[in-house]
Amino acid sequence: MPRWLFYSILTVLFGGVWGFLLKGGTVLGDGGYLVELERRGYVDSGSGREKVDTGKGSGQFTPEVAIENPDALRELHLEFLRAGSQVLQALTFFGTREKLNRAGYGAQTEQINHAAVKLAKEVAGERALVAGSVSRTQLVEREGMGALERARDHIAEQIRLLKDAGVDLLILETFFHLAEMRVALQCAAESGLPAVATMSFRPLITQCTDGHTPAECAKIMAEQGAIAVGANCEQEPKRMLPLLREMRDSVNVPIAAQPAAFRTTDDCHCFTRQPAFPDDLEIIQVSRREFFDFGRAAKAEGIAYVGGCCGCNPAYIRELARGLTVSK
Ligand SMILES: [Zn+2]
Repeated sequence: MPRWLFYSILTVLFGGVWGFLLKGGTVLGDGGYLVELERRGYVDSGSGREKVDTGKGSGQFTPEVAIENPDALRELHLEFLRAGSQVLQALTFFGTREKLNRAGYGAQTEQINHAAVKLAKEVAGERALVAGSVSRTQLVEREGMGALERARDHIAEQIRLLKDAGVDLLILETFFHLAEMRVALQCAAESGLPAVATMSFRPLITQCTDGHTPAECAKIMAEQGAIAVGANCEQEPKRMLPLLREMRDSVNVPIAAQPAAFRTTDDCHCFTRQPAFPDDLEIIQVSRREFFDFGRAAKAEGIAYVGGCCGCNPAYIRELARGLTVSK
């Protein structure tokens, strides 16, 4: 990556909203890996062995593809890079020892995290930054707040592995409980790595699972040191936009958004609780045009970091990139 691009990304991420507005820049992230690789036949959705989202099985969607089929992951990284991504996320989502244990890969926790970062760094070279993706452990949603300290140990372990492997920053994403996000931000601060923090809201966008509004989440994540705050997954861009505005209006740090590419309903603002999840997602896929429109909106509304989550493949990132380049 040319030095000027590297510094402009850092300026957008670290320079605050005013720096961003003055420069008029937006950082383009990448899209969703696990759902795309599941479609390509390399990731297990878990639905063949269990009813996903019952809280009983693993729920799968784990990142062992990094060691089992590295070429498939390398190819997807390359496709996102070609689409214009300036930040590649190492596929370390659901890579805590807790989640990997449940899916039968606990003993490979170090290996999976290291391999995923190494792969992303090889593809990124000097052309993009590499972020380590860290998500919730699922201990809190299964066992309640009493499990928070165990969740901390698992998240801290994964962040140590990601730091050792050489990530440039962390993206803490798809947290349902603000309490667990706070723990993750504390672990990130202890590591010294900069962290983007995005919550996922379900079943409605009005509050997270432990009852905080998007504005409250944004404020607390910013107070805990996140370099950018926002939302990811669960909603398509159109549905997510109002909640991003609420966050933007309540903090002075940049806003980050990685929406899903699946249509939700007025009764249920999340795709993982639609009957189509996980095996019929094609019937609720939004078109890539919605990501073009989202790029335009993000630029106009001062959203500093944009990418996509589940269902957002490289074709969607290309459209998002195009949307960012169109003048208002
Ligand atoms: Zn997602």
